[in-house]
Amino acid sequence: VDGVVRLWVTADLGAGVVAPLARDQAHYLTHVMRLAAGDELLLFNGRDGEWRARLTDVGKRDATLEVLAQTRALTPGPDLDLVVALVKRGRLETIVEKAAELGARRVRLVITERTNADHTNVARLQAIAVEASEQTGRLDTPEVVAPEKLERLLAAWPADRPLMFCDEAGDAPPVLEAMAAGAGCGAILIGPEGGFSPAERARIRALPSAVAVSLGPRILRADTAAIAALTLWQAAVGDLRGA
Ligand code: SAM
Repeated sequence: VDGVVRLWVTADLGAGVVAPLARDQAHYLTHVMRLAAGDELLLFNGRDGEWRARLTDVGKRDATLEVLAQTRALTPGPDLDLVVALVKRGRLETIVEKAAELGARRVRLVITERTNADHTNVARLQAIAVEASEQTGRLDTPEVVAPEKLERLLAAWPADRPLMFCDEAGDAPPVLEAMAAGAGCGAILIGPEGGFSPAERARIRALPSAVAVSLGPRILRADTAAIAALTLWQAAVGDLRGA
């Protein structure tokens, strides 16, 4: 299957479905991936698993897909949110791409006392999540949730949803010790370049479902911390634990 083009679509997928392609996707398939009428590719939409499809009616600027047969049933990944403070654009784009590859279901953006922006191009980040999901072989695509203030997020946080608070203050236990085995769902919280303020740290730790964890004796950049935390979480309670 490697080398076969995978495409995220919004249409329902089923045998015989004929799905028209959005113009940009038609262009991508015919001009960038140089597919021609009759060529096959794989489609996924986050709901129906993965399906083989054939490119038909390739026009100058549009094309149509004929859905053939299911290749993989939907197996949803762990119910894991990556909650990350708005860091600089380049690093944030890396974080979103790695969150898709490492199986996060959502990327929630937060504004904290020390974030240097209160907005970002969410549509661009969502497109990066889609592209990473196509490449990494996922059957869904993480949702990138628009920035909200940390306080609002914490106030609405479910008491029964574990929140792995990556706390660089250094007095938290190592991840594998701290994570309750089999949590299976939850979230990871990563702060901005300037870290969390003492007031924020106290507020987060006061959350009943917050679990402060250390990612080791070195201070990691936010993107490094996100990659490390996602991998450790998946290894402790997610889908890196093996079958
Ligand atoms: N306050 C840090 C400093 O003193 O330079 C900077 C924060 S760090 C660049 C960004 C975020 O990554 C932190 O808020 C934390 O969530 C996470 N992080 C980095 N290193 C960590 C560590 N060793 N343990 C736990 N979390 C860490």
